[in-house]
Amino acid sequence: MPRYDYRCRACGLTFELNRPMSAANDPATCPDGHDDTTKLLSTVAVTGAAAAPRPTGGGGGGCCGGGCCG
Ligand SMILES: [Zn+2]
Repeated sequence: MPRYDYRCRACGLTFELNRPMSAANDPATCPDGHDDTTKLLSTVAVTGAAAAPRPTGGGGGGCCGGGCCG
């Protein structure tokens, strides 16, 4: 079962919950009983997508659209 990180906005506590993926966006309750929590992005999901530079030459770039490449 995947593990998700949540942060309590009431007390600032960060805590983890194991829950099914279908319940990932369900409200989570802080261990101290607060329900004003927000789900943190998984570090696994973040790495790779945003950091990788877009390769050039796939079309859509400025160069080949301007006729300089032939
Ligand atoms: Zn709390």
